[in-house]
Amino acid sequence: MSEELHGIFIDVEVDDAIAADADLAAKLAEVCPVDIFSADGGRVGIVTENLDECVLCNLCVDAAPAGTIRIVKLYE
Ligand code: SF4
Repeated sequence: MSEELHGIFIDVEVDDAIAADADLAAKLAEVCPVDIFSADGGRVGIVTENLDECVLCNLCVDAAPAGTIRIVKLYE
């Protein structure tokens, strides 16, 4: 199971395996240059209104265990 959160152009999929990892949540909130991740309550949160600001830098993907975060482009 994974949580899907939709922007108009970008979805970020966060695997349940990391959803409650407070350290990783803090790290993700720090690395994303456009503040798509929040660490409120020690959970990996997505700031949906910022989703479409994603610059596809992959810093979040590289910061998380392999395969646990996916950035999905909804456009070509
Ligand atoms: S790819 Fe970059 S801009 Fe997009 S969510 Fe991940 S860290 Fe943020």
